[in-house]
Amino acid sequence: MEQTIGEILRDSRFYELLLGFDWQIAETAHADGCGKCGAALHWGSWERKPRGGPVELRSRHRLRFSLCCGKDGCRKRETPGSLRFLGRKVYFGAMVVLISAMQSGLTPERMKRLKELVGVSRRTVLRWRDWWHTVFAMSPFWRAQRGLAPSATTVDLPASLLKSFAGVTLQQLLSLLRFLVPITTGRGILQAI
Ligand SMILES: [Zn+2]
Repeated sequence: MEQTIGEILRDSRFYELLLGFDWQIAETAHADGCGKCGAALHWGSWERKPRGGPVELRSRHRLRFSLCCGKDGCRKRETPGSLRFLGRKVYFGAMVVLISAMQSGLTPERMKRLKELVGVSRRTVLRWRDWWHTVFAMSPFWRAQRGLAPSATTVDLPASLLKSFAGVTLQQLLSLLRFLVPITTGRGILQAI
């Protein structure tokens, strides 16, 4: 399992796929216009400094797509959902999911390899685990959506959630990241991260 995860997280094609999905989501939001007044939206993306990705990732992978209403007096900001950025977490969302899912088997040896792979500390991994077990588990999103993953159990989040998407392959990870898109937009449970 670990080898597969390592391969996925180091594969720059994986990040190209995530970027493509994010671009589609943002383009759709752009075409929809302002949710408050209906006026056209302008691009107002900003650069983030996500940790954990392959070193060869280009600058476009750091862009958090965002939009801003062009109408005076409204100027509402709309930040679409994302498969790459899980709220304000500084690591790529895929890492927060996969590494948290592995936490039950985190022997010192595995931890050392993870640290070499993505530079994440044990303390960060424990904090992510707490977030899954408390903030995520109690969120309205999870309460409303858990029927889609009936075999997932709260104590085993997110590993059991990943399993209900049929295990750890690139496609299943993408499915899970798409499932999580609604919680990535800066509303709801993100305020509690
Ligand atoms: Zn507006």
